Amino acid sequence: MISENIRTIRERIEAAAARSGRTDPVTLVAVTKNHPVDAVREAAAAGITDVGENRVQEAQEKMAAFPDSGLRWHLIGHLQTNKVKHAVGVFALIHSVDSRHLLEAVEREAAKRNVIQPILLQVNVAREESKFGMTVEDFPSFCEYAAKLAHVRVEGLMCIAPEFENVEEVRPIFRIAHALYEEMKSTFPDGQVRYVSMGMTHDFEIAIEEGANIVRVGTAIFGPRNY
Ligand SMILES: *Cc1c(COP(=O)(O)O)cnc(C)c1O
Repeated sequence: MISENIRTIRERIEAAAARSGRTDPVTLVAVTKNHPVDAVREAAAAGITDVGENRVQEAQEKMAAFPDSGLRWHLIGHLQTNKVKHAVGVFALIHSVDSRHLLEAVEREAAKRNVIQPILLQVNVAREESKFGMTVEDFPSFCEYAAKLAHVRVEGLMCIAPEFENVEEVRPIFRIAHALYEEMKSTFPDGQVRYVSMGMTHDFEIAIEEGANIVRVGTAIFGPRNY
């Protein structure tokens, strides 16, 4: 049952936060990719306010089923430049701004629409070839560049950790990501950088212990993905 799974995840989130002595809120983004509209409906009925999708078109199809629902839609997957025009002004938060080229495309589209798009900058701490994102070395200059743009608002960073057999091995990766988050704050106006998006089904508790305040959980809520 989706509602029971959500309750269990919330308990685990609270326990992880308590273990690390945290009292600040942690946002649970329910990742509904490859799951039907009904799954979104059930999650919303169970109190979910934030929904994550990794493809623009699939997200748009689902959004159309929830007009005026107040749901906040997050884009968490890699965004192709040719899809930017369908994402800007549509998603409450784009987590996956992973290159200068994409950042510029988002800025251009937001300027065209006269909106300010909230985004996170994606960092590839483990330097995985299969994953997108800036390296730790390039991250500070990426932030400085982003800070000059008028139509994107950088609100934090996103990190996807590798899937280790021993999940504890992700801890140093999340720790580095959190340190980058603390460092990037000084590049932007006070209070603007406030989100660390890290942690999925297999590693969200460690992510919270290391400071995540947005976790993106799919499988543990909706079951295995139907790839
Ligand atoms: C699919 C996905 C998730 C959710 O993964 P689960 O393991 O199903 O919880 C989180 N973040 C991103 C970027 C994803 O693509």
